[in-house]
Amino acid sequence: QSATFDNGSRRKTIVVLGSGWGSVSLLKSLDTTQYNVLVVSPRNYFLFTPLLPSTPVGTVELKSIIEPVRSIARRAAGEVKYYEAEALTVDVAKKSVHIKSVSEENDYETDLAYDYLVVGVGAQPTTFGIPGVAQYSSFLKEIPDAQDIRLKIMNSIEKAALLAKDDPERARLLSFVVVGGGPTGAEFAAELRDYVNQDLSKWMPAISKEIKISLVEATPHILSMFDKSLIEYSQQLFTKGNIDLKLKTAVKEVDATTIYAENRDTHAIEKIPYGVLVWATGNAPRAVAKDLMQSLGPEKQNSRRGLVINDRMELAGAEGSIYAIGDCAFFPGLFPTAQVAHQEGHYLATVFDKLHRIDQLKFANESATDASRVQSNNAKIDKIAKKIDKFNYHHYGSLAYIGNEQAIADVTFNGYSHKSAGALTFLFWKSAYLGMCVSLRNKVLVALDWAKVWFIGRDSSV
Ligand code: FAD
Ligand code: NAD
Repeated sequence: QSATFDNGSRRKTIVVLGSGWGSVSLLKSLDTTQYNVLVVSPRNYFLFTPLLPSTPVGTVELKSIIEPVRSIARRAAGEVKYYEAEALTVDVAKKSVHIKSVSEENDYETDLAYDYLVVGVGAQPTTFGIPGVAQYSSFLKEIPDAQDIRLKIMNSIEKAALLAKDDPERARLLSFVVVGGGPTGAEFAAELRDYVNQDLSKWMPAISKEIKISLVEATPHILSMFDKSLIEYSQQLFTKGNIDLKLKTAVKEVDATTIYAENRDTHAIEKIPYGVLVWATGNAPRAVAKDLMQSLGPEKQNSRRGLVINDRMELAGAEGSIYAIGDCAFFPGLFPTAQVAHQEGHYLATVFDKLHRIDQLKFANESATDASRVQSNNAKIDKIAKKIDKFNYHHYGSLAYIGNEQAIADVTFNGYSHKSAGALTFLFWKSAYLGMCVSLRNKVLVALDWAKVWFIGRDSSV
């Protein structure tokens, strides 16, 4: 794509950081013929996170829920350049991003100049600085995390099988603990329980009976974003399914074999031996976002939750040139979900479309000799600028898998709110997520994975 349009005007550059929900939604809606579009992300694929909790136990295969960035770029009308690199810092004054390639053999750093920068770098798992968490636990955020959890589960089971039944080390190895009763932790605990009950029980019946799954949550409830009745339903299902729900229990420290958790009522410290620990207590800003906040100063960037934006996704302190979307951004009332990131990405594409039209009219004015022409163009510019509406989020509801072929749904259609739980809701959950997969390839692969589990079960190898 050339640097100028046929009329001689300069094609502006949009640098997009990230290849997640926000950035990919922007790329899919953006008219990429209007701009030079450069995408920078250390991850050369989009990850369909809602099905990530299904992957460590093999309900869904990892390859089924990723879509290469290059395949998304190829479908764009204009050229989209992809850099497999990480953004390290942003120079707001110079309008450039410093990036570093992720390939270890070919270490390469450079600066990319931008007219508009879209920060969609997501967030990283938070540990709240709790000692031992970063060292000993697994997160569930990215593909390598899911692979790590699977390996640890299989290794723990195989090691335990070598020990005598009454060896306390065997019980420790078979204690699988999930910390954080938000949707990530709850859905993963449910998947793990399914795997043990439905598949491992066939291969290793004795061991499967000894496995203990615990879900540790600091507040009195799991899945607190859902309606009370759905929380109650889920908690009962978990308890019936032998998931040890440790509510009002906040983890304070972790070492190589034991979790130290405080009961919020009694303040007593409970020691929980573990073989595998999965940590899912929410999000923290990434280094590049923190650096950007710092360079814009605490008067503009005053939230610990993320990059402060306005209702047009503009970064406070860099309005008109930097935008932030998805989990890295903070705006009151908008939560770090795929649904929000997706809508923000789509909204931003509509903003860029209007900005391009304004640029074209401004360019026409530069060479216009006729004053009435300039006046008419200015009127058009004003009209378009007024049409850059505020972002308006539509919440369609929340869904979560709670195990044993059951799901919960708290959804809204045309302002009508509907809550349901059970096996039929699970079918709705499946069809909703299948519909949301970004490509036909993903849809087919996920459907085949589900069919495979139904007919022949999950496998028990690494
Ligand atoms: P992400 O999707 O995380 O993408 C961030 C991108 O930035 C990635 O490509 C990453 O590689 C890239 N990146 C990171 N650092 C840099 C850097 N320095 N420079 C350039 N690029 C960088 N939400 C729902 O609404 N429904 C669900 O069912 C749901 N299920 C979930 C299940 C799990 C297990 C998890 C972890 C989250 C789930 N979420 C769900 C939340 C949802 O995934 C996030 O809200 C969503 O991914 C946010 O999109 P994003 O684009 O901001 O970030
Ligand atoms: P979360 O912030 O939703 O939940 C984290 C949980 O960990 C909280 O309940 C918190 O009380 C608990 N916690 C924090 N510190 C603790 C400690 N020391 N000991 C014990 N418990 C502790 O985090 P998440 O589940 O990772 O979700 C992150 C985001 O992704 C959320 O916005 C969520 O809505 C979204 N998400 C949505 C879905 C879905 O819609 N099905 C699935 C996964 C994630």
